[in-house]
Amino acid sequence: MKYCNPHIKNIEAYKPGEQPECKDNIVKLNTNESPYSPSKNILKMLEDFDISLLRLYPDPKAEKLCETIADKLNFSKDNIIATNGSDEVFTYIFNAFVSNKKNVIFTNPTYTVYESLAYRFNINFTTIETESDFSIDLSKVPNESNTVFFLANPNAQTGIYIDFETLENFIKKFKGLIIVDEAYIDFAPKGIISLALKYDNLIVTRTLSKSYSLCGIRLGFAASNSINIEALHKVKDSYNINMLTQMIAIEAINDEKHMLENAYKIITERERMIEILNKMCFMVLPSKANFVLAKPLLNNAKDIFEALKKQNIYVRYFETPRLKEYIRITIGSEKENNILIKALSKINNN
Ligand code: PMP
Repeated sequence: MKYCNPHIKNIEAYKPGEQPECKDNIVKLNTNESPYSPSKNILKMLEDFDISLLRLYPDPKAEKLCETIADKLNFSKDNIIATNGSDEVFTYIFNAFVSNKKNVIFTNPTYTVYESLAYRFNINFTTIETESDFSIDLSKVPNESNTVFFLANPNAQTGIYIDFETLENFIKKFKGLIIVDEAYIDFAPKGIISLALKYDNLIVTRTLSKSYSLCGIRLGFAASNSINIEALHKVKDSYNINMLTQMIAIEAINDEKHMLENAYKIITERERMIEILNKMCFMVLPSKANFVLAKPLLNNAKDIFEALKKQNIYVRYFETPRLKEYIRITIGSEKENNILIKALSKINNN
């Protein structure tokens, strides 16, 4: 550590959920991946792919992909930046819009990558506690022009969703910059990406990881006015998205119907799981994402997490003051969810 920057010495690396080897006997409900395959059009494209193209660098600005995304939103490609997962866009946002002259705000809990970036960039930040039911009181966000507010909607870990009107009313009056992370929005009633050009203090980020079943290709994007997007382009790595990811993402976005059908199946399963878990003495938050945060009333959450892991069922456990009494369960296929339910009812009966 002798050569390392002092602020890096003392920080912990971001801890993603476990990625056990993908085997048939594993039920993986810990990292909010989709249980369904992505669009079959991707396979067709890959079968026809000319491998000699891999000699070349990919399009540095992923223009065709940005155009495909922009067309769906009735925006222009100058309103979109594509990134290596939405995680990368948060790094660029830190580079371009965050400094210690700003008042950086996250909710607690929320997506831990924001906090991890603040440590990496040596940036001070303030957290706003969510209420006892994990709802977010937006009036607690300082309404100042130097505020940079990161909001995940639906929120990470909790699935709590702020509706369109409430959020638009907040943004309209807000003097700072707001980044709305809509990673889970396809499982919720309505996102605010359509407002990304209406308010110059708004950047909306999305990902193909969740609803498009494409965690593996790493593709996220941000939508905002062309001035904000230009700033992000200035700090971006030169060839940040590989050629295959660009091509796969275009196929996926052009097959929106496939994504919507899968999202609908997950929403249906989520509602079924909430009902069953409630009956099994879990207190479940009203999630609008592809996961639920559930508090076991009969057992200790960490014990359940460990007991499930022993049976090759992976859920997520966060040992933090607000979350330590809960487990987070990704909504899987009907079959996976039933395996989980069976295991949980055995634990309850022991
Ligand atoms: N935002 C939130 C709220 C998330 O939970 C996640 C992934 N876990 C991401 C963004 C990152 O998504 P990506 O795979 O596009 O980096």
